[in-house]
Amino acid sequence: MNIILLGPPGSGKGTQAKRLEQRRGMRQLATGDMLRAATASGSELGLRVKAIMDSGQLVPDDVIIAMIAQRIGEPDCRNGFTLDGFPRTVPQAQALDDMLARRELGLDHVILIEVDEAALIDRLSGRFSCAKCGASYHERHHRPRIEGVCDICGSREFVHRPDDRPEAVTARFEVYRRQTAPILPYYRERGILRVVDGMMAIDEVAREIDRILG
Ligand code: AMP
Repeated sequence: MNIILLGPPGSGKGTQAKRLEQRRGMRQLATGDMLRAATASGSELGLRVKAIMDSGQLVPDDVIIAMIAQRIGEPDCRNGFTLDGFPRTVPQAQALDDMLARRELGLDHVILIEVDEAALIDRLSGRFSCAKCGASYHERHHRPRIEGVCDICGSREFVHRPDDRPEAVTARFEVYRRQTAPILPYYRERGILRVVDGMMAIDEVAREIDRILG
């Protein structure tokens, strides 16, 4: 099964995509994670996109489309995949249709995770993650069980995303409203868009997504 998780920054797409990977073997394809890996490695692509990402703006469509077109053809995607953070513009949604058609792949569901903006600002402003394994935490809602030690891998190093600073968060919401929300009608008209209440607890959102996937 191939699906898209849509939703504003902080709505929980990554968390839910990781769960689908664990439970159903559907590969998480997170364009933001791919780009962060590129910036961390200091590759030419990473150097090109870092300032754009830090400011909360979108990386050019052609860069992202080429990245995903190559990725969905790899063997670990044969069991299905969850697109997390892609598409984010109408041209990306159209390019996705083309690349799926070329590979004779389908799109089973597009799931929009809705969360109100005040809750998103609270989530993003306290978010941090383990520098080693990427496990995510929150300063107020989800601290590591032992202060300063990652629950999952025991590392003592944590990082904050540069684009979780308030100025960048404001820009990311604006970009979502202006460039990403217009792709919703594209999928609604095709009858494959489903909406999930992302204000619920993580487990409940996961159950709701499971119900949709069947
Ligand atoms: P995310 O981790 O999904 O919040 O993405 C972090 C940042 O990576 C975004 O704010 C963009 O700068 C960039 N990015 C990720 N996915 C895309 C995409 N599909 N199109 C353009 N830029 C993207």
